[in-house]
Amino acid sequence: MIRHVFLLFLTAAALWSAVVERKPWPSGESFLRYLEHKGLPQKLYWDLEREDKELCEEIRAGVPYYEMTDDNGTGLLQALIPINDELQIHLKRNAEGGYDFEMIPVAYQVIEDSFALPVTRSPYQDIIAATNNRKLAHAFVDAFKNSFDFTRLRKGDIVAVAYKEKMRLGRPYGLPSIEAAMIKSRKKAHYLFRYHDRYYDEKGREVEGFLFRKPVNHVRITSRFTLRRWHPVLHRYRAHLGVDFGGRTGTPIYAAADGRIIFAGRLGGYGNVIKIRHRDGFMTLYAHMSKFRRGMRRGRYVKKGQVIGYIGSTGMSTGPHLHFGLYKNGRPINPLGVIKVAKRTLYGKKRKDFIRYAEGMKKELGEAVAQNRKPLRLDDLSKTRYCLDDEALFCDINATRIGG
Ligand SMILES: [Zn+2]
Repeated sequence: MIRHVFLLFLTAAALWSAVVERKPWPSGESFLRYLEHKGLPQKLYWDLEREDKELCEEIRAGVPYYEMTDDNGTGLLQALIPINDELQIHLKRNAEGGYDFEMIPVAYQVIEDSFALPVTRSPYQDIIAATNNRKLAHAFVDAFKNSFDFTRLRKGDIVAVAYKEKMRLGRPYGLPSIEAAMIKSRKKAHYLFRYHDRYYDEKGREVEGFLFRKPVNHVRITSRFTLRRWHPVLHRYRAHLGVDFGGRTGTPIYAAADGRIIFAGRLGGYGNVIKIRHRDGFMTLYAHMSKFRRGMRRGRYVKKGQVIGYIGSTGMSTGPHLHFGLYKNGRPINPLGVIKVAKRTLYGKKRKDFIRYAEGMKKELGEAVAQNRKPLRLDDLSKTRYCLDDEALFCDINATRIGG
């Protein structure tokens, strides 16, 4: 009994003497370099599986990560480093003084809100004035940009928005998503509904305009995109932030859309990589290339369909394939949703399900307008602290205990 109390006391003392810091991930820092800077064994990286090594290249510059250090100055106890909005690296000092590496889900809350606003200046400015949430205003304009001409708006027109926003430790996390929205202009209502990650109008016609071509011809998909997946056999979380196309070494790779090359070189587990920036915040990544086509270097402008390089097996790769990643505003999205030949219209049962969903969302927007419902302000949301900052790691650790 006494021994138990003593152990409890030791555990509590260890917890309370820890300091948690939130910092932006430095630009140009790789996970391997991070280990080096922290004086942690490089073996942590080299022992990882291929898939995890690839994920280590996905840490975005500027993304906030957490470190828990012992305030006696004996170094890092734990670190949480997000690789996307759903999954993060958890480094934890173990009883032997070494470190354990695992991928764990990011713990966050989701806020759902709907509101209506009269247009006084522009929807963008009006939403910011009412919510202090610039990202939400941007998401609204972005969602409508292919289906509505904002110059047609007049003072007194109405916008209504239903959206979701992730909050982590009292701060917005990731990007808000517009679930449904309406612009009522000159007595006519224009709707948008997000359905299976795509935007549709009232009739179930897709409204997004930007299309990518397949980066390779006549190859098969060997691995699909997933943000976070629990592997029931391995008992761990996995992610694959792109699509793998298996093909022979030397098969040409095409630019998926017009854009400018922002990176051409080696990138850890991804081997030879080209990154192309496109309009509307899109970026594509082509990995494991055997070689680049002559002249493909940073700053070069390429056209959709132009050959940029060739399939290979460089970096952490088990055989020749193209790993193709697609990013919107720096966040990985499923490429297969955006590669296609024409806009989609929903038919049959899918359309029926959509119409039922859209009716529900329409009703919610209608109520927001009828009640003149005011939005939540970001400043007020941030006052609600779901977890104290120094409990952050404990929250996430608890999430691991439940998940694993
Ligand atoms: Zn891959």
